[in-house]
Amino acid sequence: MTHILVVEDEVRIAAFVKKGLVSNGFTISVAGNSEEASAISLDGQIDLMILDLGIPGRDGLELLEDLRGQGFLAPIIILTARDDIQDKISGFERGADDYMTKPFRFEELLVRVRARLRTVVTAAHESQSNMLAVGPLVLDLRTRRLQVEGQIIDLSAREFTLAETFLRHPNQVMSREQLLDTVWGYDYAPGSNIVDVYVGYLRKKFGDGLIETVRGMGYRLRP
Ligand code: CA
Repeated sequence: MTHILVVEDEVRIAAFVKKGLVSNGFTISVAGNSEEASAISLDGQIDLMILDLGIPGRDGLELLEDLRGQGFLAPIIILTARDDIQDKISGFERGADDYMTKPFRFEELLVRVRARLRTVVTAAHESQSNMLAVGPLVLDLRTRRLQVEGQIIDLSAREFTLAETFLRHPNQVMSREQLLDTVWGYDYAPGSNIVDVYVGYLRKKFGDGLIETVRGMGYRLRP
C-alpha cells in the first residue's frame, strides 16, 4: 500500500485531496501543521508527501529543509498558492521534487504523484540490478566494491572481474580456461597458474570456504 502524507491546514482542500487519492487506491495521512507533519514523516512509513507551504508552525520550506536534513528521502510535491519564482527555486533547492500551484486540478496532481512514485520504483530497481549478492557477499557493479558481511573490501581490477564472474554463476563449476578467457582474455597461455593465484587472493577476501576447488575441473562458488 502506498502511503501518502498530505500536509495541508485548509480542511476543505485536505479533504478534497484525501478523497481523490483514497479513491485511487492510496493510503492517506493528513497533517495540519508542521509539527504533526514532521512526526509522521520521520516515522519512516511515508512513500510520498504533498506539502503546502503556508502552514501553522514552521513554514513549509523550513520543514522541507529540516526533513531532508534528517534523511527523509521520499518524494515531496509542493502544493501551494505561492506562485512566485523565488518560492519555487527555494522549494527545489531545499529538496522538493515537484512544485504545483493552487488553484489546481486533481487530475494533474494525481499524474504528478504517479510520476514521482514511478521514478522511485525505477531508481530502486536500477540500484538492485547493480548489485550481485551470494551468501555473505555483495558486489556493487557501479562502485566496483565488495562487501563481505557488510564490511567493504577493496578489489583490484582483475579481482573485481573474477569476483563478478563467480557471483554471476554461483554453484557452477568454472574451469580455469573459462576463467582465464573471461577475466584475462587470451593474454595468457593456458598453462599459466594466474587463475589459481587470483582465486587465492579472492579466497582471502571472500572468507573461508566460499570458493571450492573441484578436483580436475576448476572452481565453484558455494551459494
Ligand atoms: Ca495553507
